[in-house]
Amino acid sequence: MAEGKTVTTECETRLLESVPTGLLINGEWRGASAGGTFDVEDPSTGKVLATLASASTEDALSALDAADGAQASWARTAPRERAEILRRAFELVIERTEDFALLMTLEMGKPLDEARGEVAYAAEFLRWFSEEAVRDYGRYLTTPEGKNKILVQHKPVGPCLLITPWNFPLAMATRKVAPAVAAGCTMVLKPAKLTPLTSQLFAQVMVEAGLPAGVLNVVSSSSASSISGPLLKDARLRKISFTGSTPVGKQLIAEASQNVLRTSMELGGNAPFIVFEDADLDKAVQGAMMAKMRNMGEACTAANRFLVHESVAEEFTAKFAEAMKALHPGRGTEAGVTVGPLIDGGARKDVHALVEAAVTAGATVVAGGAPIEGPGYFYRPTVLADVPNDAEILRTEIFGPVAPITTFSTEKQAIAMANSTEYGLAAYLYTRDYTRMFRVSEQIEFGMVGFNAGVISNAAAPFGGVKQSGLGREGGSEGIAEYTTTQYIGIADPYAD
Ligand code: NAD
Repeated sequence: MAEGKTVTTECETRLLESVPTGLLINGEWRGASAGGTFDVEDPSTGKVLATLASASTEDALSALDAADGAQASWARTAPRERAEILRRAFELVIERTEDFALLMTLEMGKPLDEARGEVAYAAEFLRWFSEEAVRDYGRYLTTPEGKNKILVQHKPVGPCLLITPWNFPLAMATRKVAPAVAAGCTMVLKPAKLTPLTSQLFAQVMVEAGLPAGVLNVVSSSSASSISGPLLKDARLRKISFTGSTPVGKQLIAEASQNVLRTSMELGGNAPFIVFEDADLDKAVQGAMMAKMRNMGEACTAANRFLVHESVAEEFTAKFAEAMKALHPGRGTEAGVTVGPLIDGGARKDVHALVEAAVTAGATVVAGGAPIEGPGYFYRPTVLADVPNDAEILRTEIFGPVAPITTFSTEKQAIAMANSTEYGLAAYLYTRDYTRMFRVSEQIEFGMVGFNAGVISNAAAPFGGVKQSGLGREGGSEGIAEYTTTQYIGIADPYAD
């Protein structure tokens, strides 16, 4: 573990005490009800950080009452007013970067520097959608027959249920809340039970920024399905936006079909990281470190399979393993720490089982390969070489600091290997050849491609996947469209008698 200065516990305690522990419903923080309470743990120590009210079904329905009650007036607010609330929220989040970063490090485990990076990324959605709020254009045109007119306008889709995962506690919330606010939707946000504190603080900031009561309701809960089940059955809800695993996403799509809801689904990934024979190998290793190790590998965009041309595999593997061995696991608040713990004991067990199965199937451990003893759920940064093509680890979302490497001999083979998954979120290509970048990008079935780039998330870009990685896009100009519905008004020929 890395040695270094620990951020004072006093500072942590003060921050934790400032986070609201109740449910935000209709502009008021309410205490625990029949749902009771639940604890939030620090994954690097296993210690309890805070105890929150756990929303019950009745609380969820009260939150929807509030969202539904606020919808009509919120939809009529001036886009500029919504934009300015988002802009103020952006500034408040940036001002409180250190608080948000520390809170995420405490409840999720990522190193402080990475948490600061997430604050900047997350805040950008508030700024981006403050700019988009006033630019949601419709259109007006004459029919091809030349007589009648066509008017197309966008309207907010209505009350939304937003469900977020634990891995990016702030960014996953702002990526949904900001476009919903910009479009004029009201919402019920249910954060992941493992990392709800960041959303609780974020909701407080949104209230401070001037968001009217009922627009954003937050129902943290230890029982996700007792929130989502009843809300998805309620005809007042018009949309669900979910980020999380593919199995839960599929279940929610099925439930949402009952009321034919608009759905946005940001689901799992199995990103190939393809290194061609002409790649700059040092840059490829740098990119691999970012694509694999950001968030300890707990990212939907994390490079999950390293497909390396056979002529450069040995050199790439040696350099990559060296970089992985130089990392410093530890509590994310400590200086010098570059890798935090996994989110819980179950996650670490699953990661280790995949490594063991790969080794049994013939893979070689080049770095790491085992859990780290002691408090917290740490796992050694791991590189596996010679991983057989049919190994389970190449088909499963690893969600941990493990890099399996396999080889290919032709571009055609690399494309076929990349596509042999039910997922289609992110893919990474390392090559100096721009024509190859276009050729391969056209043939691989992924919603996002990193070309000589290990991190591609950006508020201005459409984030999302194809196949079982999801439906819809977050960010970019596409992001706000997920929260609007299109109305067409057919206008009779204004020249007719
Ligand atoms: P998860 O599916 O277990 O949980 C996500 C959210 O859904 C949490 O809020 C959880 O409480 C809730 N949930 C769980 N079971 C539910 C149910 N039966 N009904 C309703 N809600 C339920 O996922 P996770 O472990 O929190 O996050 C990791 C997963 O999220 C990975 O698969 C990762 O790839 C994916 N992810 C995707 C993106 C993306 O943009 N595509 C981004 C981040 C994470």
